[in-house]
Amino acid sequence: MQRRLRTPEGRYVPISSQQLGFGAEGIVFALEDTLALCAKIYTRRPADAAYRINSLALLPPATWDGQGRDHLPVAWPRRALLDEGGELRGFLMPRVTAVELEELFEPRGRVMSLDEPTWRTLLAVAARLAETVARLHSVGIVIGDVSPKNVLVNRSGQVTLIDCDTVQFTDAGTRRRFPNTKRTDDYAPPEMLNGRQGELTPAQDAFGLAVVICTLLMEGDHPFEGRAVRLAPDQDGSIVENIRMQDNRITYPERLHETGEEHPVRMLPRGVLELALRCFGPGHYDPEERPTASEWQSALYTAGHDLMGCRVNGRHFYGGDLDGCPWCELAERRGDDLYPMPAAGARPRAPRPSRPAAARPVPPRPRQAPPRQAPPRGPGPAPQPAPAPNATPPPYYPPPAAPSSPVPGPQPAANQPPTYQYANAPANQPATGSSGGSGWVVLLVVIVVVVIIIAIL
Ligand SMILES: [Zn+2]
Repeated sequence: MQRRLRTPEGRYVPISSQQLGFGAEGIVFALEDTLALCAKIYTRRPADAAYRINSLALLPPATWDGQGRDHLPVAWPRRALLDEGGELRGFLMPRVTAVELEELFEPRGRVMSLDEPTWRTLLAVAARLAETVARLHSVGIVIGDVSPKNVLVNRSGQVTLIDCDTVQFTDAGTRRRFPNTKRTDDYAPPEMLNGRQGELTPAQDAFGLAVVICTLLMEGDHPFEGRAVRLAPDQDGSIVENIRMQDNRITYPERLHETGEEHPVRMLPRGVLELALRCFGPGHYDPEERPTASEWQSALYTAGHDLMGCRVNGRHFYGGDLDGCPWCELAERRGDDLYPMPAAGARPRAPRPSRPAAARPVPPRPRQAPPRQAPPRGPGPAPQPAPAPNATPPPYYPPPAAPSSPVPGPQPAANQPPTYQYANAPANQPATGSSGGSGWVVLLVVIVVVVIIIAIL
């Protein structure tokens, strides 16, 4: 089946029948001629979707480069897809080869998904997530739905935010504000759960970011998960209710029953723990008190540089302010190692299935790139980027001749609509010299060679 959908410039896009994922609003399909892009087709089209997508495609994140050729920080909507009648049916966006952040909450998922399955990589993932959120905030965008489902991580530990069509943003031309249209309650701050109306601020994202970071660094333990002491025996608890009541394991551990399986909070590096204490303490009900994404970024990168390595297990890394290796201690107590060394002679793992820039995945598919060995690491959380499996843009996607947004009025130069080129493929090479200059060099070399030949003869 091939749908007859086209870009606003009238170019038809060969949408495959291969379904990559689905969510509440739509289904994501592969394209027949490239692995660099995919198409989200709405099953339930939001109000003002056409206006929203065209405005989003003009914002700076549409042109952001990533850390390496196979990486993008955000899977941003690139181009509207229209039917024969000109109605918006979906949009094009980058296709991302990565797994959901939740895969990294478990030892097996980490080993399967990461080139370097260590806590050092988790720290790097957390820092990169904070960096991306801070970058969006710096251009006036509030995500509104910071949750592990919306964060993809590739084998090098690089982070891509997805579901970006639901963010809160302001149109570059008309200054109209588009609200956030989606949230995940388990990561929402109390004021959103309690029906806060109106414009969001970065402080709402800061709460979800803090929860995601703590969950990632504490082996998947959500800080607000657990049975509250306040509950009667016949009452059911929930994470959402615990968030409303400020019942969490970081600032009020005595308010939750212990199960004995909790990951120790002291594992968090000192600077990171201080931010968590601020966010879930004074910042819980006062958004202005919450640490910003930039503060998280800074604390996490600092913690990455202060890491200690274990003498027993080369995959054990821990905060420099701890006395000994907590992973060895946990391994002895639990009987299994959360960061096990690979078995001697073990072959590289099969690559993980690819994940499109959309909600839950459907049947896994093999990655396009062959498996790779982790490159050697330097100090700090800095796994290296990998080569792109396929970043070649389809040949029939030239830059549009004019902005396709229905928004009237002039657009800032920085917000010109993106081309369909994959953002990481260099669109413009820096000028390093004219072809005329190169010609002179060639001529000079020829003359020198002729002179040498004559001299020899
Ligand atoms: Zn150890």
